Amino acid sequence: LPELPEVEVVRRQLEPTWVGQTIAEVWTASPSYFFLTSPRILKRRLPGQLTVALERHGKYILARFDGGSRLLCHLGMTGQLTARALAPDPHVHLRLTLSSGEQISFRDVRKFGKVEFISEGSSSPRLDKLGPDALTIDADTFTARLQSRSLAIKTALLNQSILAGVGNIYADEALFASGIVPTRPARTISRAKLERLHSELNRILTASIQGGGSTINDYLKPDGALGGYQDWHQVYGKRGEACPLCGRSLRHRVLGGRSTHYCSHCQR
Ligand SMILES: [Zn+2]
Repeated sequence: LPELPEVEVVRRQLEPTWVGQTIAEVWTASPSYFFLTSPRILKRRLPGQLTVALERHGKYILARFDGGSRLLCHLGMTGQLTARALAPDPHVHLRLTLSSGEQISFRDVRKFGKVEFISEGSSSPRLDKLGPDALTIDADTFTARLQSRSLAIKTALLNQSILAGVGNIYADEALFASGIVPTRPARTISRAKLERLHSELNRILTASIQGGGSTINDYLKPDGALGGYQDWHQVYGKRGEACPLCGRSLRHRVLGGRSTHYCSHCQR
């Protein structure tokens, strides 16, 4: 499941191709649950739109058009948003031909990805419920949003209305790096520890973006290359392996329905 770093890598790679171009032509597959806005409306509203920015909030990419409307894209589990020419393929749901002649294709084998056209002046319930973005949130806002919660800290980090963009991998990695056990209620963590968590999370997200994101399942960067950050994971997916700090066996448990990796000695 792509998290913030993987989505940001996609955004940065598409930006030079997409921004500054007008959408010349729109092709869509047949209607399906992939389309929050129907193919018919997309074909009516998108042609002629000049893209002025490609933005990201949490795990969503938003193409912003000059009139103020936006196209929201969510990669879901297996979505690939790419500027590469793709061979004809039954898993491509949306293809935009730009005024430069280049194409943006949205391919998704499992169709958990989503596209939605958001008219100028309106919003989307999916965006309205999101908390501040995990990469840009400042330390004061971060601690203020977590310190009153009775939720387990990991569950709070994964709650997109508290903080947008963090998923299972980066929650486990950031909690390990800051020495906080994932089950600990957020409100019992000191302000200093929450500030440490903020800074470790920022460091890890930034390093992952620089490394091209983590490759798991079907995530590919838009140029088709694999991300390399999975080689830097300290605890995620390493149940039973030695803790990189103390050498004891890493633990695994299911917390809030999510697979959770930690060291019971180093994280308190
Ligand atoms: Zn340890």
